[in-house]
Amino acid sequence: MLKRVLAGLAGLFILLVAVLVGRTLMVPALDVAAAGDAASIDAERAAAHLAQAVRFETISHQRGAAAEDVVRSEAAMTGFRDWLTATYPAFTAATSREIFGGFSLLYTWQGTDAALDPVLLMSHLDVVPIAPGTEDRWEQAPFAGTIADGFVWGRGTIDTKASLVAMVEAAEMLAAKDFRPTRTIMFAFGHDEEIGGGTGNKAIATALQERGVKLHWVNDEGGVIGHGLLPGVTAPVAMIGVAEKGSISLDIVAYSRGGHSSMPSPAAETAIGRLARALERIGDAPFKSRLDGATRWMIEDLAPGVPFLQRMVYANLWLFEPVVRGVMEKSPTSAAQIHTTIAPTIIEGGNKENVLPPEARAVVNFRIHPRDNAEKIIAHVRAAIDDPDVKVEPLDGIREASQVSNIEGDGYRLLTRVIGESFPGTITVPYLVVGGTDSRHYLPITDNVFRFIPIHMSPDDMARFHGTNERVSVANMGEAVAFYVRLIEAMEPGAE
Ligand SMILES: [Zn+2]
Repeated sequence: MLKRVLAGLAGLFILLVAVLVGRTLMVPALDVAAAGDAASIDAERAAAHLAQAVRFETISHQRGAAAEDVVRSEAAMTGFRDWLTATYPAFTAATSREIFGGFSLLYTWQGTDAALDPVLLMSHLDVVPIAPGTEDRWEQAPFAGTIADGFVWGRGTIDTKASLVAMVEAAEMLAAKDFRPTRTIMFAFGHDEEIGGGTGNKAIATALQERGVKLHWVNDEGGVIGHGLLPGVTAPVAMIGVAEKGSISLDIVAYSRGGHSSMPSPAAETAIGRLARALERIGDAPFKSRLDGATRWMIEDLAPGVPFLQRMVYANLWLFEPVVRGVMEKSPTSAAQIHTTIAPTIIEGGNKENVLPPEARAVVNFRIHPRDNAEKIIAHVRAAIDDPDVKVEPLDGIREASQVSNIEGDGYRLLTRVIGESFPGTITVPYLVVGGTDSRHYLPITDNVFRFIPIHMSPDDMARFHGTNERVSVANMGEAVAFYVRLIEAMEPGAE
């Protein structure tokens, strides 16, 4: 009897191994097709233009910033706008320009077939400030627009003047050759992306909606071409953001009677004690992790680029999902991809050492996974705290997670194809963007928002982004222009 059971188990085991290996072998080989002809691209010229663009100190300031700083940034934004006009005459002649919110730009390159919904290419012209105290750590001054050691240095190169300059450069080249798109192409360049896009792209999106415009697809910043950003993946990976997380901050206030500290209630019943317990309970009730949606597609599409054993795991998520999830949960970066995150960011209560405060307050920020929503999060947090003397209310500025874009449609297909042609040997995967981009303002008028810029990034570059010594290589500028030329050409009906 035992023998027969063992033999049966062995048979099942062999079958399992056959299925695992079979599915692993079915993973398609990495496509390493050679790039098409991009010889006519002048990388030096594009890099020189990026360097000029960096010299405009288009810093976006939070509300309450000093008036003279705001005036200086506004002058830089106007200067940048005039520079675009002067530098790109064919683009300027081929498009019509509208200005929103004072400084955000919408260019429309009217297609020959008005029946086709426009495509929108996005970037932003504002940049984040230099963190005080870090100025001296820049190898090249952040707004000098210096080209040295094969790089254009400066604030805003990666985020995201490189993509802005590259797409306009591409349109300029095509317009100068009398190319006219069949499908209308719009370019939206926000001026306040780094502070939420509340007056720039939001206004553009509202205007387009009022005009009854539906967008065929949209591409904004978000993903990049990662080198060594994902564990075990040696090939470069182009990550196209197909969804983005939302955000909600909850104001959590604990109440108690207050009074003198010489005759306190039990510590756990004071406002601060209650608040501490509430925060602990929130931490003890994490949101569910799952490998679904964009993140699951990402893992599956990574399979061709990883070593055999890892490929076997990725190609058999039906069995190994818990293993992959366990690994992803260990790092904050990958954990953010699979669940709604919890981040206590503000705490306050009490102002005198011998007085019990009647209330204590904390703010906890949640980044909403597309499978959750604000209402679910509020209910989850209230249930976890389970204390009638602790009130939970959302702060203004709730942003729900975006829908997940269609990866079977034109936009994703074209981006993938053009990435493959422009960067041979690169794996293209969809992914979930954990931050926010201005593209969310267009969600009401399109189902297809993608988030990708053709810029190479290593872990070292990630620290430069919003940090010190931000830079993009001259060679990368050439590749980026070639990418946008191909993308615009690939939109032509015959080319699809
Ligand atoms: Zn940006």
